[in-house]
Amino acid sequence: MADVFADLVGQDEAVATLRRAAASAAALLRASAGPETRVADGPAGPDGPEEAGGPGAGMTHAWIFTGPPGSGRSVAARAFAAALQCAHGTGCGACPGCHTTLAGTHADVRLVVPEGLSIGVGEMRALVLRAASTPSGGRWQVVIISDADRLTEAAGNALLKAIEEPPPRTVFLLCAPSTHPDDVSVTIRSRCRIVPLRQPSADAVAEVLVRRDGIAPDTADWAAAAAQGHVGRARRLARDPEARQRRDAVLAVPRRLTGVGAAFDAAAALIEAAEAEAAASVAELDEAERAALQTALGAGGTGRGATAAMRGSAGQLKDLEKRQKSRATRAQRDALDRALVDLAGFYRDALASALRAPVAPVHTDTAALAEAGAQRWAAEGALRRLEAVLECRVAIEANVKPRIAVEAMMLALWKG
Ligand SMILES: [Zn+2]
Repeated sequence: MADVFADLVGQDEAVATLRRAAASAAALLRASAGPETRVADGPAGPDGPEEAGGPGAGMTHAWIFTGPPGSGRSVAARAFAAALQCAHGTGCGACPGCHTTLAGTHADVRLVVPEGLSIGVGEMRALVLRAASTPSGGRWQVVIISDADRLTEAAGNALLKAIEEPPPRTVFLLCAPSTHPDDVSVTIRSRCRIVPLRQPSADAVAEVLVRRDGIAPDTADWAAAAAQGHVGRARRLARDPEARQRRDAVLAVPRRLTGVGAAFDAAAALIEAAEAEAAASVAELDEAERAALQTALGAGGTGRGATAAMRGSAGQLKDLEKRQKSRATRAQRDALDRALVDLAGFYRDALASALRAPVAPVHTDTAALAEAGAQRWAAEGALRRLEAVLECRVAIEANVKPRIAVEAMMLALWKG
């Protein structure tokens, strides 16, 4: 059976680093009968001085996985967590430690996935507190923070304190797009070892879709190219007809831009599609949470105690609604961003065609359309349009209202 690193597509260097670290961590546990069991303090160099140091020198207690979305940051973090919990210390993929970690049920592995726009300080404090306890499985307490760039400042400070004075058996695995100070504070970064992940090639993504997911090679090739190195997106495109329909609608935009009115219509359609996609993705979870809370609060009681409880539960319901609203906003932004990435791919294809660049198109199914655009717009026009899409992404990230940013983009795409 494949080991826990098998799904890390096209990341040989990172995998080698993580294998070394897992071996060091296992050696450290074996040596823990001895007097010194603490993980080496502070980050070692990227090559790790484990040859020179004692057991555990290739291991450290805080890591940052960086790379573009879809490159597998959280996959890498989870695989490493599994290797740390592996009974054989290798990430064999077959033992209970590996299994439960990958399945998300290991008692000593906590995964933080921010559902809203940021991870708050309360959440972080509770997490840090629990992470300090002795690992119940006798190995490591692992905390994975899947979007460390979404930490609030206060949450970042709570995390920093834990990283600065780590409990002896606790390992923090942070995932972020980059180590730019906008994503991870300089002080946190200075305490962590960095594992950079690359955007995997379309070939590598297609290969894993065929091997792991049993997708037909033709479909896998198409989806891998269209997803632009994003493994999860490629799998969705290959498997989910609705995801394909949404992509088709986005790629129809350049054709539909025939005037000012059409540009505004296209903007409204894009926003509404993102809202609908987001609503569908959170609806089920919202309802399940609400039902669970109502059960926990004992809905339907009467009498004085029940009245007091009702007052308290109104507050809890309000909290839940606030969290759900924040999550919905995040989901909308993510959906819109995916659409913009698809659209950018189209204008990138047009630019490549205008320049006669010897590169494969992102969207093979609209390549002819992109070529027609290239003839009308020339390279400059294609580049201006590509820039308009990228500016729209930046504006939304900087909190410009999505509708305003998208309308401005559509007008720019129409006018050129
Ligand atoms: Zn194992």
